[in-house]
Amino acid sequence: MNTCIASLCPLCGSTMASDSDICDYDKDAESAPTLGDYAAMNSGLLTHDEHVLIVARWAMHRPAGLGQKSLQKFKAVVLEKWGQFQQRYPLSAENKTLTR
Ligand SMILES: [Zn+2]
Repeated sequence: MNTCIASLCPLCGSTMASDSDICDYDKDAESAPTLGDYAAMNSGLLTHDEHVLIVARWAMHRPAGLGQKSLQKFKAVVLEKWGQFQQRYPLSAENKTLTR
């Protein structure tokens, strides 16, 4: 078995860790994958387009409460960037200090 080949999440198209069956974007609101984005954008680590991709991938896992129009927009973003690696910036102590 070749563990170097990353599999893609069938819902959002992100690369999955080879040792996990659970997509890293499959999170509830309390641990949303977007929590560290604003600090990362303020520091110039993350562009707005990259943030939109993170939001869109998360929306594929948590579509409840989103309007049809928003969902279609997010789905288009996800399909356009299908399989593309996206660096993430979790809300870490390190990231929190960046906002101060
Ligand atoms: Zn996913």
